[in-house]
Amino acid sequence: MNFSKQIIDWYAINKRKLPWRASRDPYRIWVSEIILQQTKVAQGLAYYERFVQRFPSVKSLAEADEQEVLKLWQGLGYYSRARNMHVAAKQIMQQFDGEFPKTYSEIISLKGVGDYTAAAIASFVFGLPHAVVDGNVYRLLARVFGVDTPINKSAGKKEFALLAQELLDERQVADYNQAIMEFGALQCVPRNPNCSDCVLQAICVAVQTDKVHLLPVKIKASAARVRYFHYFVIIEEQSVYLQKREASDIWQGLYEFPLIETDVDSNMSELMQLPAWAQTVEAEKFEIMEVSELYKHVLSHQRIFARFYQLKIKNKLTNKKRLLINKDYLSDYPVPKLIENYLDIGLF
Ligand code: SF4
Repeated sequence: MNFSKQIIDWYAINKRKLPWRASRDPYRIWVSEIILQQTKVAQGLAYYERFVQRFPSVKSLAEADEQEVLKLWQGLGYYSRARNMHVAAKQIMQQFDGEFPKTYSEIISLKGVGDYTAAAIASFVFGLPHAVVDGNVYRLLARVFGVDTPINKSAGKKEFALLAQELLDERQVADYNQAIMEFGALQCVPRNPNCSDCVLQAICVAVQTDKVHLLPVKIKASAARVRYFHYFVIIEEQSVYLQKREASDIWQGLYEFPLIETDVDSNMSELMQLPAWAQTVEAEKFEIMEVSELYKHVLSHQRIFARFYQLKIKNKLTNKKRLLINKDYLSDYPVPKLIENYLDIGLF
């Protein structure tokens, strides 16, 4: 029995019942695929439900305010993906008269849509023969076929894409693509897969050569960038100042407290010597009400260490970019998880 038939048969028995699987709506499939690229199914489900309930169509997403889109995305991370979806929804309205594109080349022309997402939508919805390759597929193919080319280098990406395409059962592209990903997610899991109870055991090179734990091969990423964020929580009665992150950096479009960033940890007197101090705090006299512990926040290529200084100042901040937000409206603003965690301890 060949590889494709085995995993499709396995899938028919073992597949999970997921809301987007019942749908043939390319918009819903698109939303689910983007959400699942950054979180596990269990956590992604609630985000998916909320997102499609608030934005049930491409049109409603295109017409939305970016702030609301980011607010619904809050906590998922990779906010550029939400912004790209918003831009792509507008693109569909303008370039495709509001109808979701039906060809692979049109789908991949949408902002933020790469090979994987385009192949998923094209095959699941339109039955087009494009093989998906995500982390689960890399792992499964590397093990079953004993491929040790690094999956995060261009040679490896090419080799795995070709192999996946060769294996694609063109008569059942949707089931095949769903099956290969589901098999990787449920059966051929990263650590300690249950090889003794696996339908591919007889053909799996990794299990026969005792290399399950060595595959797939991934070249170690360079060291993460370390950043120190010093946030100034300036409270005025029942309101606090927030500002929007504008630069093309992490968290673009999200809100945070006035900030000074340094490369090394710094105390208050060191911060006060920095040129950024005057523009950030805008007060010669202030009272420190509270200094938080150092929060650690891990992103894929960065480690952020953050400390929050609650300050009381006499004057108002004049910088127009700073918004004085009443506590009752704070939850309308999309904020990074780091700020959300801090706010959760109760500011007022
Ligand atoms: S035998 Fe083990 S390593 Fe091979 S496909 Fe099955 S679960 Fe994965």
